[in-house]
Amino acid sequence: MDRHGQRREALRRTLAASDAQAVLVSSTTNVRYLTGFTGESSVLLLAPDRDLLISDGRFTTQIAQECPGLETAIRPSGRELNQEIARAVTGLGLTRLAFEAASWTVADYESIREAVPGVALIGVRGWVEALRRVKDEEEIAAIRAAVRCAERAFTMVRAGLREGDTEKDVADALEGGLRRCGATAASFPPIVAVGVNAALPHARPTTTARIGDADFVLIDWGASGQPYKSDLTRVLVTGKVSPKFATIYRTVLTAQEQAIAAIRPGVPAQQVDALARTVIEAAGYGDFFDHGLGHGVGMEIHEAPRLRKESPDLLEAGMVVTIEPGIYLPDWGGIRIEDDVLVTPDGREVLSHIPKSLDSVQMD
Ligand code: ZN
Ligand code: ZN
Repeated sequence: MDRHGQRREALRRTLAASDAQAVLVSSTTNVRYLTGFTGESSVLLLAPDRDLLISDGRFTTQIAQECPGLETAIRPSGRELNQEIARAVTGLGLTRLAFEAASWTVADYESIREAVPGVALIGVRGWVEALRRVKDEEEIAAIRAAVRCAERAFTMVRAGLREGDTEKDVADALEGGLRRCGATAASFPPIVAVGVNAALPHARPTTTARIGDADFVLIDWGASGQPYKSDLTRVLVTGKVSPKFATIYRTVLTAQEQAIAAIRPGVPAQQVDALARTVIEAAGYGDFFDHGLGHGVGMEIHEAPRLRKESPDLLEAGMVVTIEPGIYLPDWGGIRIEDDVLVTPDGREVLSHIPKSLDSVQMD
């Protein structure tokens, strides 16, 4: 059985433990994960002995190429997707259908409910996402490639960085660099934030703030590959290292390094978050680290597991997570350092290698 078939078998085990007779997978990412089909506007109806990909005529050839052997229902152009789903549900004689609550709109729900009034619709969450948390060898290789691509693009942009470049210039150069280095796109619009703008964890690059306006710039970027992603953050010092900057930078770096050192299978994600938080609190900046420590990265830039307070997740070998503590002072700026880390059977492997010591982030 191929990897997609194995994933569908795993989902069937989740289905068997529920009180639904079949599950309708409508998240485009989850459909791709389970079938290999890279198009959109298509759903997978998975029953104990049936896999049915419901799509339309634009994708007939693509499905034959990408998922040979998978049963399909190609709807005619006059019939809407939800009507075709209702036909399939009726055809299979289902009375209890699970659907992905996070992916259906209220309109989807209402139109299916009207079309198959006798069928109980059961909203479920995270069934496929739970499978996606642990990556196989091919997925890990794809994430490694996305990390390498992000690193190469960053190295190019760093070498070309000039005083007077706007934040947007740098973000545009990064996006171009990512594509030249083999990415299909940036994994999200890069964050380039000079000085005080870096106090916003998700700052948008401006055309007004320029390299040199302050002593440092925060860059958060990543590559999107096939379709696995990477997610990194570095702060570069383009001016002088002030004592305040040095203290905050070292605090964030220590928090990050201690958190990374704690990563191994079986450790609660919230415990890794707490470790980093303790370092930042001890330095007096506890009120200025107001986001989770990290997140899974894979087909989506933010996915399970979550490393944050009260996260129920346990780390497992094969997970890839970001570790990204930060300190953000409203009138001063922010520092965040982010790497992508693979949980290995006996510990961890940091997949990203861009230097991050205080010396190494100073531009000449
Ligand atoms: Zn990031
Ligand atoms: Zn991140």
